[in-house]
Amino acid sequence: MIPRFKPTLGWDEFAALFRRNTGAVEQFEKEFAKAFHAVDAVAFPYGRSAQWAFFNAVGLKNAEIIMPAYTCSVVAHAITLSGNRPRFIDICIDDYNMNLDLVVASINEHTRAIIATHTFGYPQNIDKLEEIVRLGEARYGNKIWLMQDCCHAFGATWNGRLIGTSGDVAVYAFNISKLITSIFGGMLTFQDQKLATKLRQWRNNLYAKPNILKSILRRLYLLSIYIAFNEKIYGMTWWLQEKSSLLNRFTKSYHLDEKIHFPPDYLERMLDVEAAVGLVQLERYTSIIATRRKNAEYYDKHLRRRENWKFPRISDGATYSHYVVQVPDRKQTVNEFAKKDIQLGELIQYCIPDIDGYQQLEQRCPIAEASSKHTINFPLTLDDVSKICAANDQSV
Ligand SMILES: *Cc1c(COP(=O)(O)O)cnc(C)c1O
Repeated sequence: MIPRFKPTLGWDEFAALFRRNTGAVEQFEKEFAKAFHAVDAVAFPYGRSAQWAFFNAVGLKNAEIIMPAYTCSVVAHAITLSGNRPRFIDICIDDYNMNLDLVVASINEHTRAIIATHTFGYPQNIDKLEEIVRLGEARYGNKIWLMQDCCHAFGATWNGRLIGTSGDVAVYAFNISKLITSIFGGMLTFQDQKLATKLRQWRNNLYAKPNILKSILRRLYLLSIYIAFNEKIYGMTWWLQEKSSLLNRFTKSYHLDEKIHFPPDYLERMLDVEAAVGLVQLERYTSIIATRRKNAEYYDKHLRRRENWKFPRISDGATYSHYVVQVPDRKQTVNEFAKKDIQLGELIQYCIPDIDGYQQLEQRCPIAEASSKHTINFPLTLDDVSKICAANDQSV
């Protein structure tokens, strides 16, 4: 079975699990800031926890925070759990990013922040975003914080500018399905040292040091990932996931998209062992992104256009967290490829304003809704995706 994604883990990450790693979190912060052109970076246990911490630390309460309707639901949870309200914006049909014209129309006197997500690795127009923030601030007289959500888009560029290097803050996340992993974990990056220091102090006051047991469990978790994603075993992993409920505890409980909640350890700091894995991954990230770009371009040329399939665009500066195609009948396509030992991803299967707990907000986002029903994504993490294109050719 070809997995829908596979973390790029090698010997060095394995070795990092068995070292002491003292001080690794501080070093990961430093190296991460350097790699992504920030003046400083502050590590957190999850991306969502980092976002939550930011809103709290800068004192946002009862504010409206603008975000895309089609993104990871935990972003909306971070807004809600920090005592603020998400305002959902529909996306653009061609790159899945938030429609910036709708953002302009939605800014009002309650707007205090905008989260701009570079969805599936497609860079959002940063120049336009900055202009929107400036005009909104001038019109309503409030500071509007600009957070770039780079969780899908490590290293993407807009007009040659690295994303995440403008606005007030950028957020990254590192679970095993992200472009690089630190087991779990999240990071905020800053261009302003004072703001970074404020967040670091705020975190140090509130976030507890994790215990030994957790650091052992996290090591075991990553070891199980090595095993589960082994080519010879992945068929069984897939079966356990799809046909039995044995793995639900690991694969589903972490997400729980239907409920506004955070994992119980969201107020514990990133572990040194996680940062140590992250440091190794950071050295690989250029080659990880190169593989994704190469495969996206290969699909673009060689994946046969089937009737009523909508293909994604190849875009300058994109880093392709997912290669997303829209198909009329998702279940049927996923089953068809599963029979050929190819797992397709089904991300993101929801439009956030349709999730329980957010429905009362009554914001209709038709493009996000349609996308949530029809998107599948093709594996990008293999060295060679020609087999997948060949399998697609054989189907009638
Ligand atoms: C993964 C992700 C997050 C949050 O990351 P966690 O570490 O899972 O909390 C936020 N935004 C986007 C777009 C993501 O993909």
